[in-house]
Amino acid sequence: MKACGIDLGTTYSAISWFDGENDRVNTIELVNNADGLPSIRSVVYYPQNEPPVVGDTAWNAARQHPERVVVGIKRSMGDPNYTFALDGTNYTPQQVSSEILKVLVQEAEANLGESVSDVVITVPAYFGDNECAATREAGVLAGLNVLSLMAEPHAAALAYVVEKAAAIDDQDLLVYDLGGGTFDITLIHATALTARVTGEDGEKELPSLRMTTITKEGNSGLGGLDWDKALADLIREKVEEEHGVDVMADPKDEAFLLDSCEKAKRHLSRVASVHVVADMAGHSVEVSRMDFEERTEGLLFQTECLIEQVLKDAVPLFQDRARNEGELSSEEIDKIDIDYVKGKVGVMLTGGSSKMPMVKNMLERVTGKKPIQYGNPDLLVTKGAAYFAYIESLSTPSATDASGQTDDDGKSTAGTTSRSGPIIQIIDTTPVSIGVEALRSDGAGGRKSVYSEVIRKNSQYGKWFQKEFQKSENNATEITIEIYKGDGESDRLEDCTKLTDFTITGLPPGGKEGEAIRVELICENGILRGKALDVTSGLSADVECKRPFE
Ligand code: ADP
Ligand code: MG
Repeated sequence: MKACGIDLGTTYSAISWFDGENDRVNTIELVNNADGLPSIRSVVYYPQNEPPVVGDTAWNAARQHPERVVVGIKRSMGDPNYTFALDGTNYTPQQVSSEILKVLVQEAEANLGESVSDVVITVPAYFGDNECAATREAGVLAGLNVLSLMAEPHAAALAYVVEKAAAIDDQDLLVYDLGGGTFDITLIHATALTARVTGEDGEKELPSLRMTTITKEGNSGLGGLDWDKALADLIREKVEEEHGVDVMADPKDEAFLLDSCEKAKRHLSRVASVHVVADMAGHSVEVSRMDFEERTEGLLFQTECLIEQVLKDAVPLFQDRARNEGELSSEEIDKIDIDYVKGKVGVMLTGGSSKMPMVKNMLERVTGKKPIQYGNPDLLVTKGAAYFAYIESLSTPSATDASGQTDDDGKSTAGTTSRSGPIIQIIDTTPVSIGVEALRSDGAGGRKSVYSEVIRKNSQYGKWFQKEFQKSENNATEITIEIYKGDGESDRLEDCTKLTDFTITGLPPGGKEGEAIRVELICENGILRGKALDVTSGLSADVECKRPFE
């Protein structure tokens, strides 16, 4: 029985397994795929009175029976209000996704000649508890044992280590993932570990990683499909100009045109110009890569802005790190800026749309260095997941870091990755700033309520953060702490979202204004917990808030 890694994508999905005898990842060649790629379209077609069909056949069926076809179900994962209603049945996102998983696993089993049940499924770094739970459930509905979920950028980083056989030691990786319908940019700190595992062929050492998400951003409505649409507009204009025909006069032609455009776009990643047939009547035009790039510049720029944001957000975290390492003077630490961060990061490309040359060129311009090239960017996520699945499925005694220290506490697990063993550690960070309401002088003799940050955005999960406040009046009998989610920039309470509150009660009389109240907050496994202590009386209270980031 083999453990497999599954990239359950918005537009395409793929499955791989790690060959422990030859130390390499193999991606299953899926039949019924597009253009000979080892991935299938994440599209499900429910024919009447027949079992569901997944992949290109389903995609093609959308022309005839659009009401029977589900496209992009990943966008609805975890949405309790979504159902796909057909023939008197209401399908949940988990049920629809499970059909994709089933097909992937069937293909893997046919290819491997053995059964597959243990899997690691990847999820976007921004997936919250609901989306993760739905993804796990999809796995269970497909009859699988989900060993773990894994964040997509972590999987891509891990694939790098596997394919390059631990060429990294200690590195910051900027993972640029442009897929079919989504864009994600994640800055990860990766430290090389060596995993000692016992496989079928005895004990051996394998490269492994400790990964910490430093910062992340994304746009769940931006992807290759937008490039297809922009190209379709361009072609429509050109045909009108050259042939005087509107190829979209009939809305049915839109699907045809978009399909031709997706193919043309793929070709344009390799050649400088392509011939595109725009409609059933055979009207066609020539498009150059330059035309295409000019037309889609604005889309690419949206990703560039998010890259800048992620790098900017990372500046204080790089400063913290430098302080801890103690090698730079405080003046040098103050000088750490976005350019310093750019100088430190390695850039990695994943997602099918990152194959467009314009992506590579932009990244080179923005970061001043060439993206790391290895393997097929479409398949890195599934490959990393396969490797994780392989290691998770073995008995794993411990991991050793580069300095030879054993690191076997297996402690760090949080956020989108709901479990991690001692070998591959994944440490996640808080996606927002968390703080409490506090009073501050308004500069005119009065006081105003403001947001006071306790946990900075992108702080490590599983760690307590503490801040001291002062009582605002004498003889208070109780003190209420209000917890807010902030945007990390503004201290106006109106710009923040209240999460919960809790109260220290029964304070003895005689308390004085200015006495200390210590507030402590921690984010752990998707839960926010808070403690407050009246330092003078020793009385305290605590609170728990589930799913603070939704
Ligand atoms: P997702 O993770 O969103 O499911 P992928 O990472 O597989 O999807 O990316 C799919 C997108 O990549 C599609 O929009 C597809 O058109 C695009 N794509 C795939 N190969 C190429 C290529 N060679 N050049 C440009 N775009 C490509
Ligand atoms: Mg993807």
